This record gives sequence, C-alpha cells and structure tokens, in this order.
Amino acid sequence: MSCDYRALALAGVRDLTPYQPGKPIEELERELGIRESIKLASNENPLGPSPHALEALRGHLGGISLYPDGNGFALKRRLGELLDVDPACITLGNGSNEILELVARAYLEPGRNAVFSAHAFAVYPIVVQAVGADARVAPANPADHAMPYGHDLDAMASRIDADTRVVFVANPNNPTGTWLDEAAVHGFLKRVPDETLVVMDEAYFEYVQADGYPDATRWLKAFPNLLVTRTFSKIHGLAGLRIGYGVSGEAVADILNRVRQPFNTNSLAQAGALAALDDGDHVTESVRINTLGLAQLTAACRERGLGYIPSVGNFLSIDVGREAGPVYQALLREGVIVRPVGGYGLPNHLRVTVGREQENRRFIDALDRVLRG
Ligand SMILES: *Cc1c(COP(=O)(O)O)cnc(C)c1O
Repeated sequence: MSCDYRALALAGVRDLTPYQPGKPIEELERELGIRESIKLASNENPLGPSPHALEALRGHLGGISLYPDGNGFALKRRLGELLDVDPACITLGNGSNEILELVARAYLEPGRNAVFSAHAFAVYPIVVQAVGADARVAPANPADHAMPYGHDLDAMASRIDADTRVVFVANPNNPTGTWLDEAAVHGFLKRVPDETLVVMDEAYFEYVQADGYPDATRWLKAFPNLLVTRTFSKIHGLAGLRIGYGVSGEAVADILNRVRQPFNTNSLAQAGALAALDDGDHVTESVRINTLGLAQLTAACRERGLGYIPSVGNFLSIDVGREAGPVYQALLREGVIVRPVGGYGLPNHLRVTVGREQENRRFIDALDRVLRG
C-alpha cells in the first residue's frame, strides 16, 4: 500500500510554491538549441568574481578533503573588524537566503506571524509559510508614489501585533529596486516592539549610491532586535559559492548559530569571501559599470515610452505595457534571459539585471524586436 506522501507533509510545506530561479543559460540553450545566450536574470555581477577571490579559491582547492572551519573564524574576524562588531554577533549562511531561513526556524511557528511588504523579496513568504507561521503582507506604495511599489513602513508597522516575531525589510528591495532613507528606517526601528525582530535585508548594499541611504549596521548597538543581512552573491560576484551573513546582537546570533548546520558554509566559500572583502577595486569598478548600465537602460526606456521602477540596485523592473510572460518567452528565443515578476504582483513588469554595455544593448535590441513583432 502506498500513502499520499504529499498529503503527509506539514501543511505549510505541502502548500508551498517553490522559488522560481532565473533560467540557467545551459538550460535555455539545451531546450532551444541556440548559443551565445546572455543571462540578465539573477542580479549576478557581469564582471564576474573578484580576481583576488579566484586566486584564494585556487590556493584552497587542495584543502577540500577537510571539513571547513565550522565557526568561520577568519572570515568572521575580518567582518567584525570592517563592521566594528564582535565576531560573536555574526552568523555565516549558505547565502544570505539561509540566514532568512534560520530566522524563521528560530523565531516563527504556527500562531506567530511575520510582516513584510507586497512586492517584497520572494523568499520571505516561503520561509514563513514553511514553518507554519502566518504571513502578514502590508500594501506597498501606490504606482504613482515617488517610490512606486516600495515598502510603506507605516502600513508595515500597523500590521505588527503581539504575535509578530519578525518583520522583513528589504533595503533596497528586489524586484522593485526601491529604497528607504535613514530617517524612515530609524523611525521604524524606534516604533517596532522589542519582541519583534527586524530583518534588514541589505543584499545590494554596496551598489546603492543614493544620498541618505543608511548603513543599518550603525543601529545594531541601539536595537538588539535588529538583524542586518548581506551577501557575497551580488556585488562580490560569488553567487555560485553560496555565502552571506547576518549581523545582529549577540543573543540573536547565538540563537541562529544553534540552528544552522555545523558546516553550512564551505571552505572555498569562506576563503573566496575573505579575499573578496578586501578587493575594493573590484567593488568600485562594479559600482561604476552598474551606474552606467542603469543609466543606459533607463534612457532606453524613456526613449521608448516604457515605464520603469526607479532602482538603486543592479537591476531594473520595466513595465512592458502588456502581460510580461509572453515577452519574457519571446526574449528567451532571442537568447536573452530576464525575469518575469508576475509572481511578485507585477504582471506587466520584467526585471532585467544590469549587465555590461554590450549585454544591455543586446537586451534593448531584442526587446525592440519582441515589442514590435
Ligand atoms: C539575492 C538576494 C538575497 C540573497 O541572496 P543569497 O545568494 O542567498 O545571498 C537576499 N535578499 C535579496 C533581496 C536578494 O535579492
């Protein structure tokens, strides 16, 4: 006799819709029999990894028969210096995605809830639902707001109640690229009850050039309920290694470190991340290319009368003026992979990652052909 093993799963898990990753280049080329495709779908760094990180990786290859340092001593020490915190305040994760998951496992369960915004990063609802907690989705700013589709912190704060243990804030948010200024974030932190953890997701921190954009780590000492997450996947170009971190008060870090696997970040990831941290040139060049690329893409939108959500990240969500799914499919046939964001409540938008000039050009030309045809 066989059982229904789907029905046997926990309710939250059974009803999960899995995260939709960007389509890998190999998969597209295998399916369509095409070549020389480009991927502008996962906010990866078009410059690739830091050369320092690559050199460190080569130097550590021979060591992979050994388990990694489960405490990530060297990397946490360096992060501690750079962030001016004790290494005991840091939690390393298999991508910052894992930190989000650890938060849910440690602080949420049925009967508790988490608050986040509409159009926020797709991992929040997944980690909340998987542990059977309630997701409270606050409405975002309206489309005609100065920060369209961005987080409305008042709406978020008003949804916090006695059972809210976590509030997720993405600054800037993906897929909107919208951001929150210093006064807004500080005012929010003061308003959130002590019992509610504020997860400030700063995956794109290094890219942001806007005046008044805050570094939330400066509030860690004042707010022991604050957890800031960052990653090596985006500007550092190490998405394939899977490493990110959370920085918080010592008590929260202690709890997160209890629930993680003992060896959740591998030895190559730790070595690559450590080297990338000190490659300021790579970061500077990545920001420069991104600023140029964003200007190139937004100018192209304006010339064509296409709307877009002003972004401070390394991506832009463009309003293609019609259902975006078929446009996405047609772009695939042009060998250009972007990301439809209908699942985020933005059915007419496509999110494109800022590439190098040539890649952006190719995307724009392909979009022209698709929208014309
Ligand atoms: C990409 C991203 C992350 C996490 O990426 P990792 O590769 O798991 O570190 C987290 N938050 C947001 C908003 C992102 O866009």
